[in-house]
Amino acid sequence: MRFKYCPFCGEETTERQLGDEGMVPYCTKCDRPLFDMFSTSIITAVLNECGEVALLRQNYVSTANYVCVAGYIKPGESAEETVIREVKEELGLDAEAAEFIKSYPYEKKDMLMLGFKTTVKKKDFTLSGEVDSAEWVKLEDAPALLREGGIAWRLVREIAGM
Ligand SMILES: [Zn+2]
Repeated sequence: MRFKYCPFCGEETTERQLGDEGMVPYCTKCDRPLFDMFSTSIITAVLNECGEVALLRQNYVSTANYVCVAGYIKPGESAEETVIREVKEELGLDAEAAEFIKSYPYEKKDMLMLGFKTTVKKKDFTLSGEVDSAEWVKLEDAPALLREGGIAWRLVREIAGM
């Protein structure tokens, strides 16, 4: 998001040359730069000890494809804490640790997605109301069920070494 108005005082922003950053929206009244803003979220591949990954159906996201666990980072939370919280909320599983894999800018939604990998013990899911269904899929079979070129697809392929 590029600021047209200052979020602090409501004044219309101007642009100012800010060193290596180039032209940046600026509030002359507050005398501060207003860098383009984006939200930060996590996406994680949830793996079990059998080499399978949990794929979810969330009809409000897509009825055509499966998705991975994802969610926004709350203020005061580390990205790793978000991963563990979201795995618990969406699948009802306890992830022990979150391993950072790669980050993915998602410009359409003004978002930076931090891609993780987590491992859990294979168990039945206890799904949140936001998840319509979930299943364990062999890691190598998972990309075919994800939207080609999408962030989940790229993350799973990265982890599978494809
Ligand atoms: Zn201002």
